[in-house]
Amino acid sequence: MPLRIEQFPVLSDNYGYLVRDEASGQVACIDTPDADAIAAAMDRLGWGLDLILNTHWHPDHAGGNEALKARFGATIYGPQEVTRIAPLDHPVTAGDTVALGETRFTVIDVGGHTLQHIAYHDAADHVAFVGDSIFPLGCGRMFEGDPVQMWGGLSRIAALPDETRLYCAHEYTAANARFALSVDDAPALKARAQAVFAARERGEWTVPSTVGEEKATNPFLRAPRLAERVGAAGKSDAEAFAAVRRAKDNFKG
Ligand code: ZN
Ligand code: FE
Repeated sequence: MPLRIEQFPVLSDNYGYLVRDEASGQVACIDTPDADAIAAAMDRLGWGLDLILNTHWHPDHAGGNEALKARFGATIYGPQEVTRIAPLDHPVTAGDTVALGETRFTVIDVGGHTLQHIAYHDAADHVAFVGDSIFPLGCGRMFEGDPVQMWGGLSRIAALPDETRLYCAHEYTAANARFALSVDDAPALKARAQAVFAARERGEWTVPSTVGEEKATNPFLRAPRLAERVGAAGKSDAEAFAAVRRAKDNFKG
């Protein structure tokens, strides 16, 4: 595979990602949750740092920009909103392409968790870095956007090929599974939830997942089919999504 992905846990429940375009040796860091942990991973791998790709402005995603740029001289791409807390060299928006050697990342608008949240899709390698927009069996909290915007972003992720691997920024899957089981009794969900609980018992990561798995079992992508269960029968898909999101916000699992 032309893109090598190094994943490592940082902070309390984040994942850090370093990716290397094998053709050129160029390296990018996806978000900067913890500059020291990322620098330690780079030392271990013997890698330099060419690019930083931010998904959104939150401190556990852009907080390490300044320190990593100072130390490695990396060029920072991300949505304009990143400048609220951190340096940014090249603002990008939906449809833009970011090159890492021979690898091409297409920017997808997945706003809603924050207004300008973006994902980076490498179609050739069937990989997308999605930040806090979608998680296995979950999605990000809707801090800044509205349901129409956020449903639009989730729909764009769902429209990617089923085999696309989704690299998100947090290990929230067990809690997401408990909520999902409260609103959906699909057999595929039950089976996946059991596998998730067992994996977490063993200390294993549940990230990445795939678009196909999420379409089959993620209650947010399945919101239109769960509308009745969440009191949104007959409503629009975005309103059904909003009802599932509200149910999750109020869920005491
Ligand atoms: Zn966030
Ligand atoms: Fe986050």
